[in-house]
Amino acid sequence: MKIAVLPGDGIGPEIVAQAVKVLNALNLNIEMTEAPIGGAGYEAAGDPLPDATLKLAKDADAVLLGAVGDWKYDKLERHLRPERGLLRIRKELNLFANLRPALLYPELASASTLKPEVVSGLDIMIVRELTGDIYFGQPRGISTLENGEREGVNTMRYSESEIRRIGRVAFDIAMKRNKKVCSVDKANVLECTELWRQVMIELSQEYPEVELSHMYVDNAAMQLIRAPKQFDVMVTGNIFGDILSDEASMLTGSIGMLPSASLDANNKGMYEPSHGSAPDIAGKDVANPLATILSAAMMLRYTFNDEVNAQRIENAVKKALAQGFRTADIWTDGTNKVGCAAMGDAVVAAL
Ligand code: NAD
Repeated sequence: MKIAVLPGDGIGPEIVAQAVKVLNALNLNIEMTEAPIGGAGYEAAGDPLPDATLKLAKDADAVLLGAVGDWKYDKLERHLRPERGLLRIRKELNLFANLRPALLYPELASASTLKPEVVSGLDIMIVRELTGDIYFGQPRGISTLENGEREGVNTMRYSESEIRRIGRVAFDIAMKRNKKVCSVDKANVLECTELWRQVMIELSQEYPEVELSHMYVDNAAMQLIRAPKQFDVMVTGNIFGDILSDEASMLTGSIGMLPSASLDANNKGMYEPSHGSAPDIAGKDVANPLATILSAAMMLRYTFNDEVNAQRIENAVKKALAQGFRTADIWTDGTNKVGCAAMGDAVVAAL
């Protein structure tokens, strides 16, 4: 297993070090090589995605990423900013499927802003299309009309094949879970998503065991707050998925707990926490490394098809939480507050 390890900026190096520690503790045959990305790439090679880093990522089976970005780079030209490195690597690796679980460990139910009975035991997988939709569709831009007024244009576009390939990812994942897919669209108003719904229905013929339902995006936003446990797998386009996955992440209380995976057509993937580089707490050994450690578990599951070791990591995280270990972001009275490295050690010990 060849893994490109890209720690990035801010808390990235601290949290990635914990995930690497956990992977090493599994004693698997893993080759891990580190390279800079984001602000670290700019410092090292004048480019947020240095050529050597991109080559390493292309040659690897999977990429483990920390986070990129720091306010000190905000004044750089747009193409040199850390976030550009991230967008480019996703595009270069053709990562069209973004998987974001929203999972609430019972021990952390009180960390959510929702009532514990609404969220306790929550386990949703949001499958978001990542390379199409209104974020990429042409034409786009801001132009001046004949009357001198400015007009902004973006275009929502999906081809049948783009919809089918993301649908397939969602149905395949549902087969490994509770066999329910909820496809989110706005088919009553947008033709693009009317096609989305038609293709999902066609595809569902190939998965007779999976129960397919449809929901308009406005209702889905409401249902995620009202009764989130009704969902198993949700599949949706880029813009709806962007918004709904952030909404779902907050159901679980802390963004420091949420992993993510972005996959290509051959299950090569990039695995990273859902949060950013948190420059406000960087270098203080207080960041929560669990989202990154759980991203490593997703890597074993989705790229290396190693369900056993994926579950070993997830169970070790559960055990560390059950033993009362908490980083500052999830700490509550009566639990044991630990730093980033100590949380990594607690997971390794639980393994
Ligand atoms: P952020 O996610 O970095 O931080 C938001 C808040 O959550 C901060 O208070 C931070 O301290 C806290 N936080 C985040 N991760 C945490 C963790 N593991 N443990 C404990 N607390 C945690 O978002 P932001 O502050 O809006 O952005 C900071 C920088 O990160 C910006 O430069 C932004 O562009 C970048 N960013 C990068 C990514 C990415 O690399 N995928 C995603 C979002 C933002």
